[in-house]
Order: sequence, then C-alpha cells, then structure tokens
Amino acid sequence: MTQAYVALGSNLGDSRQQLLDAMNRLAALPGTRLVASSRLYRTPPWGHLEQPPFVNAAVLLDTMLSPHELLDAMLAVEHAAGRIREGVRWGPRTLDLDLLHMDGVQLDDERLTLPHPRIAERVFVLLPLHDLAPQLLLPGQGRVDQLLAGLDPTDCEVLP
Ligand code: ATP
Ligand code: CA
Ligand code: CA
Repeated sequence: MTQAYVALGSNLGDSRQQLLDAMNRLAALPGTRLVASSRLYRTPPWGHLEQPPFVNAAVLLDTMLSPHELLDAMLAVEHAAGRIREGVRWGPRTLDLDLLHMDGVQLDDERLTLPHPRIAERVFVLLPLHDLAPQLLLPGQGRVDQLLAGLDPTDCEVLP
C-alpha cells in the first residue's frame, strides 16, 4: 500500500457537495482506502481572478493502484462530476483532482509529475494538506508547514 495525497477543488455548482461526493468516490476505488480528509476551505480565485471563489480540500489515501492508475481513476471521477476541459487553463471547474504526492514516488512524464510541481506556491493546496500532514516532506519543494509559513492565508476561511 502506498500513501497518496490528493487535492480537491471546485468553483462551479454545489462545490461543497462535489467535494464530498468526490471523497466518497475516491474511497470506493479498487484497492484503496480513505485514511483521512482535511477541513473544507473557501479560497479566493487563482489564475484567472474574475471567477467564483473555490472550495478546496485534500485527502490521504492508502492505495494499491500505481500512480498512473490512480491518475486515470481521478480523471474518471472528475468526468463523472461533469468536468469539461476547455481551452482556458485554470478557469472555473465543477471538480479538479490533483495528485499531490505519493510516498516514495518522484516522476515526470507527459501525463504525470510527482510531486505536483505547483504545491509550494499555493496556499489553497497547502492549507488542507497541512491538516493531514504538517511534517510531510515534498521532495524538491520542502516541508508542508515551512512552505505554508511563507504564504499569506488571508481571505481563506474554514467552512463550518
Ligand atoms: P494545475 O496542474 O496547475 O493545478 P489544472 O489542475 O487546471 O492545473 P488540468 O487541466 O486539471 O490542470 O490537468 C492537466 C493535466 O495535468 C492532466 O491531464 C494530467 O495528465 C496532468 N498532470 C501532470 N501531473 C499531474 C498531477 N500530479 N496531478 C494531476 N494531473 C497531473
Ligand atoms: Ca489543479
Ligand atoms: Ca488538475
């Protein structure tokens, strides 16, 4: 079994429900167990600023899936949530699932980069990841608590 950290985000539709549904779908993947889930956060839009705020969270899975098998399963969960990939990168989406890190895995190919290369600059990823694993060391980027300490979490709030 490998520990896998997955980031969840949504800013279209009922974002909170999308994230809860996605967590259940991830928990139901073959050879996979949901170990822990973070709190839900409301965070300001990122990338294109003229879009609704996001709801973000993260989960820790134990899985027997390979990194690419897990990515394929995550893309299928996004698809089930009505995710449509259009031209605009970082635009609004019903569900975005990013594979942040898998224990002991570093890779970079045309489909998958691990750890996810843009964790260190994203407070909306680091806040929920910090709920799960403050001491986690992301190879090439740093430790989650130290990375988060360098960013400004103003305008991010925990949802009740
Ligand atoms: P970002 O990666 O900056 O958060 P995004 O999530 O909006 O941007 P997507 O359109 O969801 O980008 O994904 C584009 C492609 O990124 C996916 O089809 C996938 O093949 C690739 N990818 C590479 N590394 C990862 C990873 N660690 N997790 C998820 N997707 C990845
Ligand atoms: Ca993303
Ligand atoms: Ca993505």
